Amino acid sequence: MNRRSFVGAVAAAPFAGALRAAGATTLETHIVRLNLRHTWTTTMSSSEYRDTLHVAYTRDGLTGHGEGAPIVRYKEDAQSARKAAESVRDLLLAADPLQFSKVMAEVFRRVDGEWAGKAAIDIALMDWVGQKLGIPLYTYFGLDPKDTPLTTFSIGIDTPEITRQKTREAAEYPILKVKVGLSTDEPTIEAVRSVTRKPLRVDANEGWKDKEEAVRKINWLEKQGVEFIEQPMPADMIEETRWVRSRVHIPVIADEACRHASDIPKLRDAFDGVNVKLDKAGGVLAAYRMIEVAKAMGMKTMLGCMVSSSVSVTAAAHLSPLVDYADLDGNLLIANDPFHGVRVEKGKLILPNRPGLGLTPI
Ligand code: MG
Repeated sequence: MNRRSFVGAVAAAPFAGALRAAGATTLETHIVRLNLRHTWTTTMSSSEYRDTLHVAYTRDGLTGHGEGAPIVRYKEDAQSARKAAESVRDLLLAADPLQFSKVMAEVFRRVDGEWAGKAAIDIALMDWVGQKLGIPLYTYFGLDPKDTPLTTFSIGIDTPEITRQKTREAAEYPILKVKVGLSTDEPTIEAVRSVTRKPLRVDANEGWKDKEEAVRKINWLEKQGVEFIEQPMPADMIEETRWVRSRVHIPVIADEACRHASDIPKLRDAFDGVNVKLDKAGGVLAAYRMIEVAKAMGMKTMLGCMVSSSVSVTAAAHLSPLVDYADLDGNLLIANDPFHGVRVEKGKLILPNRPGLGLTPI
């Protein structure tokens, strides 16, 4: 579904309007194709577009919007996410949404895997709850919107020439996140450095399979002004990552190795921090728990995202006053965002001061 037909379906369908006026509770699920501004390449895939699941939950004349970006690495796709959301339709239509913790616990009990599907449901419920209470989501969590961190802007893997062009286009962002992990790491970083001296963060996406190679690369990256390294080795190589961490001087952050709060205790000595994503965790509530568990264990926290629209990125941004680092740029990488939500000014995340997520259709 393109942007116009999606927004039309959500905002203007006369039938949905009549149902809203009548106070009916409805649940709509759509797969939305998000077109990328640049072909997006990491160690895992290369693509021109991404499909995400969008959920619209309507009750008492209010509509909460949610989104989940299926993660290929975990064998999820938009169809399986939608099927998962549809499998709990009756539960969601019958439940009291103000009992959202109870409702999501039941969704987690009934649905195996399908974290993007769960995230889309959770975000839609939390958007609705915020609107019902008349408060922004950050207020529900007791946070100060002035405390949002700077977000990085991500540069995917590409030729040196295009990497230089992307780096120039990212001039307004004070910190860049650069994807590495293929055989072109040094030329990529040198291409970025030929354009800018700003701080860099680097994500290897499990790309280095040899621990000695990882140490060499990380120590070279430190000399290039890199602040931290994300997931240098495969997720299951925790012992090797512990060995690497003891030989480098910049923080090592877990992403693929850390999907849920229950993963965090075993990562404590191998990583300095964890990258929390709503699509991995299964929504805002689960992401909040991950952040609190990591903090309780003395670890650094980061909020990341997949390529997604402003629905998912804005939901994550409402929790961002809690974390040390933010990489919330998924909506900036697409050309057909159906909503306005969180904005970025010189890298600073600016949260909408409206109830719920504070989204407005474009
Ligand atoms: Mg990552």
